[in-house]
Amino acid sequence: MSSQYPSLKPFNTLGINVVARDITTAKTIADLCDAWQTCQQKNMPFILLGGGSNVLFLEDYHGMVVINRLMGIQVEEKDDAWHLHVGAGENWHHLVEYTLAQGFSGLENLALIPGCVGSAPIQNIGAYGVELKDVCEYVDIVDLQHGQIKRLLADACQFGYRDSLFKHAYRDGYAITAVGIKLAKTWHPVMTYGELTKLNSATVTPGQIFDGVCHMRRSKLPDPEITGNVGSFFKNPVVDAIEASEILHHYPDVPHYPQTNGAVKLAAGWLIDQCHLKGYRIGGAAVHRQQALVIINENNATSQDIVALAHEIRQRVGSKFNVLLEPEVRFIGAMGEKDATEVIS
Ligand code: NAP
Repeated sequence: MSSQYPSLKPFNTLGINVVARDITTAKTIADLCDAWQTCQQKNMPFILLGGGSNVLFLEDYHGMVVINRLMGIQVEEKDDAWHLHVGAGENWHHLVEYTLAQGFSGLENLALIPGCVGSAPIQNIGAYGVELKDVCEYVDIVDLQHGQIKRLLADACQFGYRDSLFKHAYRDGYAITAVGIKLAKTWHPVMTYGELTKLNSATVTPGQIFDGVCHMRRSKLPDPEITGNVGSFFKNPVVDAIEASEILHHYPDVPHYPQTNGAVKLAAGWLIDQCHLKGYRIGGAAVHRQQALVIINENNATSQDIVALAHEIRQRVGSKFNVLLEPEVRFIGAMGEKDATEVIS
């Protein structure tokens, strides 16, 4: 597609310089539905973006990119909790800061996660022992064809590890318009990860956890404003107990976390690091030196560079550990989303 089309570079945190047929901002639910219907009439693909912090555009996008900017935070206080109704276009980290400033605890472990509130349920964002599903009360979606709003209670969202119904049954033809968050007044600090384990459980405050999380993230993760990235590029693999004991037999140091179903989660970043890939480059793409799970746009990387690097990482980890990594990031082709694992296989 020619350069007369708008660039997507400012709208994806990896900073991939491809164009879209059209880019528009939706401030209301009517804007969303209008954009969808225009695409239907013109037989054009449609994609909704929040912060663009979990997508890799593989090539020029032959459709309309709609930036979700449905704003607003409403708070209702009840005896045991604060109930927040948050517009999908609100910035996630600003929401975390806002809640803490109001004296509401519960989101502090999820500080500094890039992206918007409406993207949070899609992959059930999680960090430092807390996932969105732990605080989500409901998700409002709009059926873009008919303009009808539907409320899905959290139990109906099929939240899993970086997964939900919004990646499956409600992927096409629907948009998340708002998220309901319930923050209990009785606070249960989660201090099981990294530096947080050193805090004193008798005196700890939500602010201390927030500061600890921000400090850990800033020391290991590149700021997407400065260096293009999409956070963790791969999911942590979950293997069965037999595979885990095989790996542990050969690599007793592998960080491993038994799950409630008997499976074992392995740290993908550690597996990549063991293949000596920190700093490894293909074209303008590189494995981040501080955290091997992050791929960075070091020097005008193309999507081909990123895909080639992801392929190489998957192959090397596969040959060494017999574990095949799968991307956490969503891959977008010219006409819509593609199977990311297939693309890098
Ligand atoms: P880390 O502390 O170096 O740990 C490596 C992996 O081991 C993590 O991914 C984490 O899995 C797991 N882990 C560590 N301590 C654990 C514990 N006490 N119980 C269970 N699992 C444990 O990880 P990191 O890369 O610095 O990331 C810290 C947290 O931020 C993690 O929760 C990570 O998921 C999250 N994060 C997410 C993204 C993203 O883009 N999705 C980017 C950066 C960081 P889990 O990932 O399952 O927690």
